[in-house]
Amino acid sequence: MDIRHYTLSLEVDPAAQRISGYTEISFLLLQPAGTILLDLVQQMKVDKITLDGKTLSFSHEKDIISMSSTNSFSAGKHLLKITYSGQPPVAKRAPWDGGFQWEKDSTGNPWIAITCQSEGGKIYFPCKDHPSDEPNDGADLIISVPKGLVVAGPGLLKNVSTKNNLATYHWKTNYTISNYCILFNVGKYKVVRKEYITVNNNRVPMEFYVLEEHAGKAACLLDLMERSARVQEKYFGEYPWVKEKIGIVETPHLGMEHQTMNAYGNKFKYTQVGGKDFDWLLHHEFGHEWWGNKVTNRDWAHMWIQEGICVFGDAMYVREAEGEEAYLERMRRTGRATRNLLPIVQGEVIDAKQTYHPDIYGKGAFFMHSLRYIMGDSIFFPTLKKLATDPKYTYDNTVTTDDVEKLFSGAYGKSLKPVFDLFLRTTEKLEIELKQTDTDKYTIRLANAGMPLPVDISTERGMERLIVDENGLEIISKTLPVIDPKGFYLKRVTIN
Ligand SMILES: [Zn+2]
Repeated sequence: MDIRHYTLSLEVDPAAQRISGYTEISFLLLQPAGTILLDLVQQMKVDKITLDGKTLSFSHEKDIISMSSTNSFSAGKHLLKITYSGQPPVAKRAPWDGGFQWEKDSTGNPWIAITCQSEGGKIYFPCKDHPSDEPNDGADLIISVPKGLVVAGPGLLKNVSTKNNLATYHWKTNYTISNYCILFNVGKYKVVRKEYITVNNNRVPMEFYVLEEHAGKAACLLDLMERSARVQEKYFGEYPWVKEKIGIVETPHLGMEHQTMNAYGNKFKYTQVGGKDFDWLLHHEFGHEWWGNKVTNRDWAHMWIQEGICVFGDAMYVREAEGEEAYLERMRRTGRATRNLLPIVQGEVIDAKQTYHPDIYGKGAFFMHSLRYIMGDSIFFPTLKKLATDPKYTYDNTVTTDDVEKLFSGAYGKSLKPVFDLFLRTTEKLEIELKQTDTDKYTIRLANAGMPLPVDISTERGMERLIVDENGLEIISKTLPVIDPKGFYLKRVTIN
């Protein structure tokens, strides 16, 4: 089954905390199938399902809609229409748990947000809830709300119409999009705009859906977003969704990387980086337009690609704004914070919640830092940009850890699999053994790297970058050599 397109047509009733309407799913069956399954939480009540216009019988149990046919469904393109309604799950700790937030702004207007990064779109619309199958032809959201409220969604706003007491917003994205980004926000929003010119000279509107009461703060946030965009584009290539928009929407939760409509709830709390206002949350979530939305992992097992490289992008902002030393200090802090309780890549048999732990962020980023050192900037940075720009790895295509390893190994000219395995598939650190063999002689060896690696070694002669392997390298020094003083590796040095 290959999902091609979703259309969601829903009426939102803030007073009753209910939604009602339908979802249309266009999909291909690659071969005839006796049963079609879709995910939708149990608390949504399905009234009717049609396939290609004909009513289908179905069951809806344990969050799964099951439709069977005695003659089996034919291979080819189909259109399912599922009519349903109900009170969707409410998020208790958004964005860390998913669901709807039925909040109010300070003047009492409804302020509604949806998050479902780990729960998936199935919390409010029927879908195939797996990262490997994004709708290749995008999604339409036709959302009706009480008149006076504004709906912010992905892609382009095609139309706004009003009827009786309802306003209907039609948002359309033509890009492939993960199902946890197919959602909308509702509020008493004002739209503040600015034009952005990309690194490839394309004009893209920046649009900030900000609560009316905070409209005065929007211009500063858009300036800051522009600085973030410049850094992301420098390292990862042009903004991925130039035919649509750079969108931000103010939300009651902290934030989430929703494609072309980033959720922002950091309350305009800025820090100073390089003497200018910086919003870490905005920069990080915006980074997911490249890592997560454009480059998407094929399975939750490889989520470090989205989070780890995105956090590495956060450090790139520091490098651009404050220089290499500030970047190194930041990476050393990141390295110290790694926990090493579980491997980053644990295998594809586990679910989204099990795969999700803090090291996929910081240790994932630190791994990029180590690779940068091993490969050198002239190979590492173009390779990283290739991962974010080559059609093989982006948009309709998804990636695994092996894809990333093969790309970097190819660019390096020899296999980097041993370091990918060590840092991503185990909780071990790089074991470096330093042994004094004479008054001014030492042997240094890598015990578990599985391949020769460059290591900075500081002696009275200064710092040298030397290739060390498991057989050991002899060093002449009057003082105890210092290993990797700038901190490019997560390591354990034993001295004897
Ligand atoms: Zn993130």
